[in-house]
Amino acid sequence: MISLKHVNKFYYSDEEKLQALKDINLEIAAGELVAIMGPSGSGKSTLINLLGFIDKKISGRYLFNGENYLAADDTTLSHIRNEKVGFVFQNFSLIENDTVFENVELPLLYSGLGFHQTKERVMAVLTKVGLKDKAQKLPKQLSGGQQQRVAIARALVNQPSFIIADEPTGALDSVTSEEIMKLFVELNQEMGVTVILVTHNPELVQYCSRLIEIFDGAIIQDKELK
Ligand code: ADP
Repeated sequence: MISLKHVNKFYYSDEEKLQALKDINLEIAAGELVAIMGPSGSGKSTLINLLGFIDKKISGRYLFNGENYLAADDTTLSHIRNEKVGFVFQNFSLIENDTVFENVELPLLYSGLGFHQTKERVMAVLTKVGLKDKAQKLPKQLSGGQQQRVAIARALVNQPSFIIADEPTGALDSVTSEEIMKLFVELNQEMGVTVILVTHNPELVQYCSRLIEIFDGAIIQDKELK
């Protein structure tokens, strides 16, 4: 599904040129649950911005299902991002004044569905994450773990090709973190959702099928876990 070949990324500032990704070669297949680990500044965000079609200024090649989407213009690329990738962030990034239902509905509206077409799909993903009865609540009426479930439902609603979860348990206690990781495993195993998880937390690796370690912009380890 994902294929990176000889990818390099440079950031330029004044007279400085910083190489944030160094000759990255990476294949990720549909159905994987991959952890990407590395210390702060090692290039994790740069890598997921590339994988998630946010950053297209790289050298080398990114093929997604055999296609070079990075050649598309920004508007096309943002539609591709909305359809192919679901993002889950550490701080949930929900819209405070919108209900749970409206938060999850948003990517569908952006995809061009009308209001009358969204209900079934929104309720189906809310059911999947165990929040069917919270649809009319506001995010602040929910616990942190529940808010992250809303964010996961929002990431899933467009049936994306893969999910990028960036420190998804970083703001949660250990019990809730475990619940969220088990949800990712369930979605992965039962629905075949591909998950790319970025984390500092070695405890999350046990839930994953593969571990990629990145250091100073390079992949230093890539191993199957089960
Ligand atoms: P991580 O997510 O692992 O903390 P990043 O991908 O954010 O790492 O950063 C990798 C390197 O690139 C770091 O040295 C960082 O300072 C640098 N960097 C990241 N974003 C920018 C930017 N927009 N401009 C210049 N340098 C950047």
